Amino acid sequence: MTHIFNFSAGPAVLPKEVLAQAAAEMLDWHGSGMSVMEMSHRGPEFISIYQAAERDLRELLAVPDNYKILFMQGGGLSQNALIPLNLLGHKPDGATIDFIHTGSWSEKSIKEARKYANVNIAASSTTAVPPQAEWQLTPGAAYLHMCTNETIGGVEYQPDFNDLRLQDVTLVADMSSHILSREIDVAKYGVIFAGAQKNIGPAGVTIVIIREDLLGKALPVCPSAFDFKLVADNESMYNTPPTYGIYIAGLVFQWLKRQGGVAEMSRRAQAKADLLYAALDGSDFYETRVAPSNRSRMNVPFYLKDESRNEAFLAGAKARGLLQLKGHKSVGGMRASIYNAMPIEGVQALVAYLNEFAGQHK
Ligand code: PMP
Repeated sequence: MTHIFNFSAGPAVLPKEVLAQAAAEMLDWHGSGMSVMEMSHRGPEFISIYQAAERDLRELLAVPDNYKILFMQGGGLSQNALIPLNLLGHKPDGATIDFIHTGSWSEKSIKEARKYANVNIAASSTTAVPPQAEWQLTPGAAYLHMCTNETIGGVEYQPDFNDLRLQDVTLVADMSSHILSREIDVAKYGVIFAGAQKNIGPAGVTIVIIREDLLGKALPVCPSAFDFKLVADNESMYNTPPTYGIYIAGLVFQWLKRQGGVAEMSRRAQAKADLLYAALDGSDFYETRVAPSNRSRMNVPFYLKDESRNEAFLAGAKARGLLQLKGHKSVGGMRASIYNAMPIEGVQALVAYLNEFAGQHK
């Protein structure tokens, strides 16, 4: 059988070892006689799974003690409402949220935030992260929201990602599509959130990492099940958490630790991205549209200069086991998502195909 490499933007490829372990444990988890799906979230078996997942994620991202990690439901998009609902309680009237607009996901966040507050777009560009010196921040803004990796456009905050020294500004970052692919200084952020279905596990789990002093500021209308303080006070079990997704996430965290953690993921991400961008840059058959300094290491959108060949390109890719390369419908073209679980061999196979297809259609 052709070896399959899955370039989906999410839900996305998971480590084979994790899937194999989940399969082996499916009917009987650790001699408990139960599948993880059948366990009470309040029983000792699931509590041990939850605690290990929390501890491993904390270790992998070096999350300081004054931050809570919440395992929620609702996906990344729900956080666009839940964050204002949870942070604006102390500023109910006339609050302003600053945004850096870098593409589709920050745009969605902006649209949702307008329901709850005034919005100021402090800087905007969809092909590069606007230089920090140009950001027009609002004095006294409730917080500053950014999407640190735009999954559709392929714009990532780097290499100055860890240079966000914004005094007196609460940073909120949507890291859905690159969390755990590079080291971050969590202490620079007020809230980090991420849907799980790219670098963490199955859809249905949403990670929220929040500094403790930001808890307890919810608007009265905030639904209780989504009140960060209630969720934190109840170790993510105010209501039933997405138990099976948390279990798989926990297996992914263990896998990441065995691989060498986030530093090793970052090294691999760089190697994979370098290989792919070099192939795209080295050919006049393809083009990319993001400024080289802000090219995402996770999501690589690219275009065939002759778009009439798109269907043939995708069909040939599929025949070689290179799946889900079609670009997002809003931007067209192609997109290769090369998350942590994508082995370098997948990128090598894609590069070989890029060269072969270009050679055949000169
Ligand atoms: N933010 C980013 C950066 C994303 O890539 C996505 C999903 N692709 C979302 C938010 C929305 O996540 P969900 O579909 O889980 O709500």
